[in-house]
Amino acid sequence: MSMGSDMYRQQILDHYRNPRNHGELDDPTFSHEGFNPSCGDEIEFDVELAADGETVEDVAFHGDGCAISQASASLLSQELPGMTLDEIDDLDRDDVLELLGVEVTPMRIKCAVLAEKVVQDGADIYRGEKELEATSTEDDA
Ligand code: ZN
Repeated sequence: MSMGSDMYRQQILDHYRNPRNHGELDDPTFSHEGFNPSCGDEIEFDVELAADGETVEDVAFHGDGCAISQASASLLSQELPGMTLDEIDDLDRDDVLELLGVEVTPMRIKCAVLAEKVVQDGADIYRGEKELEATSTEDDA
């Protein structure tokens, strides 16, 4: 194990134990939740948009699950403010894996991408581009 990956492991544990932007927003523009049944992870994101209706002003999340899923949500929550909904749409799993900075086994990829999928689906539902009760990683192609 390299020093570098050890540093990232510490970061994941830190975000898991002390999640950033944890909780709920008082007046979110939209909220969306999602589940990763294969691991038992759940995450709900609240997103507040700026007056332009496009740019993220504030986010909060809460959930339950493994360290990878919750640390991914915490790390992602730090990137979202200032991003537009179009930029969020352009995120992919590589962006999330880069934030995490560790090798993720195929089984745990769904844990890692849950937060990203929840925010993207929430944005799509808000814009009327998708109808969905809740995101599930089981729907992955
Ligand atoms: Zn998990």
